[in-house]
Amino acid sequence: MKLKEVVEAIEELYPLWLKEDWDFPGLILGDGEKECRKIFFALDPAEKTAMEAKEWGADLMVTHHPLFFRAVHRLPSTDPHGKVASILLSSGCALWVGHTNVDSAPRGTNDAICSRLGLLNTEPMEGKGEVNGLPAGMGRVGELEREMSLEEFADLCREKLPKTVQGAKMAGDAEMKVRRVAVMSGAGDSFLDKAIDLGVDAFLTSDLRHHPALDAMEKAKALGRPMGLIDVSHFSSEFPWFDFALQDIKNKLESRVECRLSSLCTDPWSEIFI
Ligand SMILES: [Zn+2]
Repeated sequence: MKLKEVVEAIEELYPLWLKEDWDFPGLILGDGEKECRKIFFALDPAEKTAMEAKEWGADLMVTHHPLFFRAVHRLPSTDPHGKVASILLSSGCALWVGHTNVDSAPRGTNDAICSRLGLLNTEPMEGKGEVNGLPAGMGRVGELEREMSLEEFADLCREKLPKTVQGAKMAGDAEMKVRRVAVMSGAGDSFLDKAIDLGVDAFLTSDLRHHPALDAMEKAKALGRPMGLIDVSHFSSEFPWFDFALQDIKNKLESRVECRLSSLCTDPWSEIFI
């Protein structure tokens, strides 16, 4: 298959119109006319994952995180992003990024968290229409299979999401009852107010900072509906997407491609000292 046909099929699963305004997912490197038979998946386009893709002989690397977040004016291989571009281009490997479009898409990062936690009756926190007949949008809100304490929910998140040194951090009354929860893959503090508005018992996300977390809990409490917070590592919240992505892309391409997932963890944190 030609790369452009592969990209077209991938973008039917994760349409680019689902992206946030500031984001630029899609084909970042590569020649659409080239043959594409081997697709390598990784969360981050980092030097070590690009090397893995190269060693496997990948024609296309699919990542969740962008190679560039800002305008770029030079790309020497002394720059970390230039290094990745240089490894991929020199080995004939293209790069396709599915970022906020994948967060919003059905069976994207957020649905993958819901699936791991066994959430029922899920719907987007912020709807953006439908894709392939399924609701799309940022975040998800749904119900746990049974009521549990916030402490049990934190433990469920720790157990079901990919292991990193951070584990799961909990904020709130450990004994409070949790049934309806909101989840947001990646750094979700801009959705704290939305979670409060939805009146959920707990909100799971990553990269929560001191002030937004404290303010949100005070606000929810003042409204008479306290909300617990669970913070997992950014990596843990997004890697579950690959539970779906490899199979869905392979099915979409009728198995005319070979897919492989990176064996490396790109969570930057390696130890916690308590
Ligand atoms: Zn992310």
